[in-house]
Amino acid sequence: MASNASCIFCKIIKGEIPSLKLIESKYCYSFLDIQPTADYHCLVIPKHHGAKLHNIPDEYLADILPMVKKLTHVFKLDENNTPEGDGYNVLQNNGRIAHQEVDHVHFHLIPKKDSESGLG
Ligand code: 5GP
Ligand code: ZN
Repeated sequence: MASNASCIFCKIIKGEIPSLKLIESKYCYSFLDIQPTADYHCLVIPKHHGAKLHNIPDEYLADILPMVKKLTHVFKLDENNTPEGDGYNVLQNNGRIAHQEVDHVHFHLIPKKDSESGLG
């Protein structure tokens, strides 16, 4: 797996920078975002350095969404399973023009609560 010595997310994978780790697999690593936009805002990253999605080998990408799905269970994000129930966003930015700040592919999992929408 490719690693970049100056990349903060590669350092997090190696434990050189601390993180609030959630789930780890052979291909991916997940942790809490340091500047969350909602409670339990998570990041899921491949254990292969690459700036954009197309730089990441398929075997790493294939493990990303199953890990996102596991995290929705950890945080019971689909507990209500109704159109009005709690939900979440999955976001993945590529390039500065698309608001990417860290040049190691990452998927955001951002819980959305009814209480934030005025519905609940
Ligand atoms: P982007 O805008 O690149 O899609 O999002 C990068 C995300 O990484 C941001 O939400 C930011 O808060 C998060 N982030 C940046 N540096 C760190 C760090 O050192 N630790 C953690 N846990 N998150 C980070
Ligand atoms: Zn990296």
